[in-house]
Amino acid sequence: MASRYKGYAGKILDINLTSGVIGEYSFSDKDRERFLGGRFISTKILWDELVPGIDPLSPDNILVIMTSPLTGTGAPCSSRYDISAKSPLTGAIGHSNSGGNFGIFLKRTGWDGIVIRGKAETPVYIDIQEDDVQIKSADHLWGLNTKETREKLGKGSTLVIGPGGENLVKYAVVVCNERVHGRTGMGAVMGSKNIKGIVANGKKRIEIERPDKFRAGVKKWVKMLQNHPATGDLAPRLGTAQFVNILSRKNALPTRNFSRGTFEGAYNISGERLAKDYLVKNFGCPSCPIKCGRVVELDGKEIKGPEFEILCLMGSNLEIDDMDAIIRWNYELDLLGIDSITTGNTLGFASELNEKGMWDNGIEFGNKEAVSDAIQKIAYRKGIGDDLAEGVRFLSEKYGGKEFAAHSKGLEIAGYEPRAAVGHALGYATANRGACHLDGGYMIYFEVNGPMTLVPQHYRSKPSWTILDQNLLAAISAGGNCLFTAWTFVPNVAYKLPGMKIVSWIVSRILTYTWFLITLMLKIPKVLMKINLPVLPHSKFIKLATGMKMDFGLFMHAGERGYTLERLFNLREGIGKDKDTLCRRFTDEPLVPGKAKTKVPLNKMLPKYYKIRGWDKNGVPKAKTLKRLGLDFVDLSRLNL
Ligand code: SF4
Repeated sequence: MASRYKGYAGKILDINLTSGVIGEYSFSDKDRERFLGGRFISTKILWDELVPGIDPLSPDNILVIMTSPLTGTGAPCSSRYDISAKSPLTGAIGHSNSGGNFGIFLKRTGWDGIVIRGKAETPVYIDIQEDDVQIKSADHLWGLNTKETREKLGKGSTLVIGPGGENLVKYAVVVCNERVHGRTGMGAVMGSKNIKGIVANGKKRIEIERPDKFRAGVKKWVKMLQNHPATGDLAPRLGTAQFVNILSRKNALPTRNFSRGTFEGAYNISGERLAKDYLVKNFGCPSCPIKCGRVVELDGKEIKGPEFEILCLMGSNLEIDDMDAIIRWNYELDLLGIDSITTGNTLGFASELNEKGMWDNGIEFGNKEAVSDAIQKIAYRKGIGDDLAEGVRFLSEKYGGKEFAAHSKGLEIAGYEPRAAVGHALGYATANRGACHLDGGYMIYFEVNGPMTLVPQHYRSKPSWTILDQNLLAAISAGGNCLFTAWTFVPNVAYKLPGMKIVSWIVSRILTYTWFLITLMLKIPKVLMKINLPVLPHSKFIKLATGMKMDFGLFMHAGERGYTLERLFNLREGIGKDKDTLCRRFTDEPLVPGKAKTKVPLNKMLPKYYKIRGWDKNGVPKAKTLKRLGLDFVDLSRLNL
């Protein structure tokens, strides 16, 4: 069923691996208007198609690969697309966004996305050559690492899994070129369906509604990104690793399984060190002028360099400051196809269990050999690897230590100390896919590591700021841009503030104590927000690409709608208020001994968060909220409450 909107290819593939039937999934333009693309369209499909309570690794789960209206249009950083399913790691909504070239290639085949059901009897790969779609044997590929698989699959763009996905490691990833769909175990869902890879190859044009205006706008947007300190200087020069030093200085760098926020060896694993001693060049996803990716040299070879998350979670969090070792692990984890954030977290937790005598596993803080050994064991589920492959929540239930298990809803916490930034902590606790910094709203950028910071422990101001960020980032992602394009929201002049201490202090207080204006903004009806913000031009570009009615109000409204549907998906699975939590290390133990303020006052923030979102005291969206968001097809009485 073609779409009347340009930007979209207008068709979604529907593949049943059990029966071998290949067809088209029917999706309406009304739903395109409501859910835009990527993770939101996927959530709508999963909401419509999945039976609650299914085993995520059974043939009953559905894997959705979905592009967005801007994917492949040439807008800045618009190669993004999502993979979604019920997560085997969390049991909640699972989704993972990435910027390899697969989304662009898929759209050029004439398909916006793929819905994959059932399970193949033997290993297969799916070959999409425009309308010629075939399920082919992958017997010769099973057992290969991700690089070998990509090389053997050949022409077109490929999405592949490694041994981690084949062995159903709960946090297995899906790899495309140098980019990885890391979180929530989408690689394990692929493995459970016996899919080793997917190839997309096509030459169809992606139509644009207003091509001249679109192209002229792209030039201006690229210029804005290049002239902005965050996207034109810091990210290309230092990559995401820029955050290591600053977070350590501000007591916000997870160290020794989140027991401290400062690491003595921070410089050795920092972006500055990487740039000085290892960097060969930076690289970017297609159509990205920012280019935050790193190519580094090690052992005489040029390979992909590490990003912030692995430097923190397999560096400071394990008390390891050996850059060579982390670069090797980064490369190895991609080959094996397992997520670096969850791996680092799991090994940190296992080290503490071992140290406390709760599980004799041989893993210790600072012990590099044990880490190298554990990575292999996880990917192949050998020995202790079988337990480690289940993640932190599982280990805490089996061996104890729930009070220092750094996860929410079963997803391990990213590389930012929650007690150092309570808005970020609220984001971790409420994020639909679990403790994810991006899904959670990435508040730490406004509380600690950005140039313009809110008072980090001022909890009253945070619910509204966190909701604003969650809705905005989710909308940007569903539209098809990289979230780093949101950095231009912070004016250039703010980057001069840290050197002007008094001005910086005053701006920080003004932003913090005027939080009620943010609450008010969240309540403004969309008809009063008929604007396009020059610093956040995403909504304007969706309109120019598709011809769809779109402005900033509708865009933010779509962000809130999609976010709420994800919440409803979780509620239907029985995941509600009692899972909006963090472990006691964060809520009861101060980060700075003796300073009570450096704990996360989650119980004080959550009621306000629910209220502003229009949810009841149990975190369930009210009927009038569903009506306002156009989600009144949801029957609240059928949720698993
Ligand atoms: S900013 Fe980085 S992650 Fe985002 S599109 Fe560019 S290269 Fe990819």
